[in-house]
Amino acid sequence: MAFILPDLPFSKDALGSHMSAETLDFHHGKHHRAYVDKTNELLAEQELEGASLVEVIRRAGDGGERALFNNSAQLWNHSFFWQCLAAPDGQCPTGRLAELIDDSFGTTDSMLAALKEEAVGHFSNGWAWLVLDGGKLSITSLHDSDTPVVHEGMKPLLTLDVWEHAYYIDYRNARPDYVEGVLSNIVNWEFVAQNLDGQGISRADQSA
Ligand code: FE
Repeated sequence: MAFILPDLPFSKDALGSHMSAETLDFHHGKHHRAYVDKTNELLAEQELEGASLVEVIRRAGDGGERALFNNSAQLWNHSFFWQCLAAPDGQCPTGRLAELIDDSFGTTDSMLAALKEEAVGHFSNGWAWLVLDGGKLSITSLHDSDTPVVHEGMKPLLTLDVWEHAYYIDYRNARPDYVEGVLSNIVNWEFVAQNLDGQGISRADQSA
């Protein structure tokens, strides 16, 4: 048994010009797949049957196994990221999610502005996150492969991949245009709202 590349939860052309089928071919089909393959390769000698991806990430982090941590964490981060996206349909946060956003940021627009600023300002590779921390929403970013899976109390709601491989085809080097295009148009707010139950980490987990 081994870890697998999860299917995209939408068709390759569903995100329109905000994230093209060609980007998804590379980002999901090559980059994400490479993290899956490398994780499996690094685990080839180990008895994996039934182990969860989250357990592997935490064990690799605790044990200082950098290559295994980087690849397995990226496997999880991307598996979570795809679920955060949906076809552009004028969607916006509603219900309890909208209330929590208003409590922490004033308005959805203010929250989005803060998340965009974090994503654009994050130096080099990494991920911008909207998280639930102690019952409140907050915005942060993590470097390289780092992941909420290994941060106690950080419950992931929404992420945006700001590695250059996420935008070089559709946006060249223009990270601000990518951030704007995705966060203003193709966020799956229903998935974000689901994660208010604190179980977001399990939604991108899998068993080998
Ligand atoms: Fe990526």
